[in-house]
Amino acid sequence: MNRQFLLALDQGTTSSRAIVFTPEGRLSASAAFEFTQHYPQPGWVEHEPMDLVDTTVRAMRQALSTGGIQPKEIAAIGITNQRETTLIWDRKTGQAIHRAIVWQCRRTAPIIERLKQDGLTEMIRDKTGLVPDAYFSASKIRWLLDQTGTQARAERGELCFGTVDSFLAWHLTGGQTHVTDATNAARTMLFNLKEQDWDDDLLRVFNIPRVLLPQVKDTAGVIGTLDERCLGQAIPIAALAGDQHAALFGQGCLEEGAVKNTYGTGCFMLMNTGARPVRDERGLLTTMAWRLNGKPMYALEGSVFVAGAAIQWLRDELGLISTAAQSEQLASQVPDTAGVCFVPAFTGLGAPHWDMYARGTLTGFSRGAKAAHLARAALESIAFQSNDLLQLMAASLGRAPEALRVDGGATANDLLMQMQADISGITVLRPQVRETTALGAALLAGLGVGMFSSPAQAAGKWRPECAFTPAWDAQLRQERLRDWNRAVRTTLFEASLRREKG
Ligand code: ADP
Repeated sequence: MNRQFLLALDQGTTSSRAIVFTPEGRLSASAAFEFTQHYPQPGWVEHEPMDLVDTTVRAMRQALSTGGIQPKEIAAIGITNQRETTLIWDRKTGQAIHRAIVWQCRRTAPIIERLKQDGLTEMIRDKTGLVPDAYFSASKIRWLLDQTGTQARAERGELCFGTVDSFLAWHLTGGQTHVTDATNAARTMLFNLKEQDWDDDLLRVFNIPRVLLPQVKDTAGVIGTLDERCLGQAIPIAALAGDQHAALFGQGCLEEGAVKNTYGTGCFMLMNTGARPVRDERGLLTTMAWRLNGKPMYALEGSVFVAGAAIQWLRDELGLISTAAQSEQLASQVPDTAGVCFVPAFTGLGAPHWDMYARGTLTGFSRGAKAAHLARAALESIAFQSNDLLQLMAASLGRAPEALRVDGGATANDLLMQMQADISGITVLRPQVRETTALGAALLAGLGVGMFSSPAQAAGKWRPECAFTPAWDAQLRQERLRDWNRAVRTTLFEASLRREKG
């Protein structure tokens, strides 16, 4: 019998993973390799470009060998990746002109400040859906060209810019293709969402020549074939998608109003808004869901800066637990937080408050408060912050979403998932395959080679493992939301004092 598999390559911030799925969306084998993070100065983060390629190739070889899978059994490869991270390389040799500037890196904040002072925020918002920030690739490209003195080479077409998807696609096809997809392009701050093309005004603002940029492809569709030197077999590479977008697809969020939340170090919530880009005035970003057969689908995106990181803080700084998973047992020792509220605004507060002066706040402690109450408040803080985003999504949609689909490391915590259902008054659906980012990339690749007849058939592989339904009555919910909002107001008041002090 001819077996067929789909291979997802998930190139993340700390590791590169390869995961093999059956066409039914079942996980067959996986492998992962970490690589070194470089911090040349405080606030700066870099990756060695070839580390990203090498660990990806090693992961795919190992996944196939542990799963006893032959390269000829792989029908297609899908690439999903850390977004915004910026690379520039020589078009002839493939050699990068500098290390990759990682999305978290703050080195280009002054470039963004100047843009804001020049009054360009509104134009950028309107064209790209983004709030100007150093996260996105545009200012990183500018920095790279300036620091390496390569503007002239870029203008002569001797160099290629790409996000990680582009760089991997270039190398994995043996330098045959310089492409990206619309989801990754949408995170550069150079891509016009409505026109689905690089924006000439923005290219002028950043003085970036168009020849430097990759061709923007659909999210699914063959962009080239895997260099035979990787696995000894030419396999079509048939999908490119930013990690959060692949997860949205892997969660089967195909309909307008379908929403997913990924619970990791931070949280990333995306809601499908259909064929029209929707603008939100309270801080959600407008972005792509994906582009299939030339048809763009859009999404709203919001993030929680500190989510699982609050649990790491309990573990690493306070020593209350020795593993993140223990937070569940500790918090389960008490029925509620006894009035304790924790706002883990370690690095400021995002949507809907947007206050970078905010810092972590603990309120409502009485003499009997215990470690268990704090652990419970920390888990609740993840759910409350996610709920604040969900309410923004609901307001934009004009109704409550039907359910919240969840993935990410912290979704292993049943108590947290129940808290989310209770606090948001929504059914929380946890899927059988928790690797939804990789699953999404694999299914998109299957779609790209025609293994599935439609996006719905591809994404229809999603299956719930567990549904958490709301148990709080409306009154309890309101009381608890009031406590949370009071703690947030305290945090914002304290931030305003800090801002006055300068
Ligand atoms: P990332 O992709 O951001 O590295 P992961 O999806 O691997 O994150 O999830 C890791 C994060 O989830 C960590 O911040 C960790 O503290 C948190 N986490 C993992 N397991 C649990 C758990 N059982 N309960 C609560 N938090 C958890």
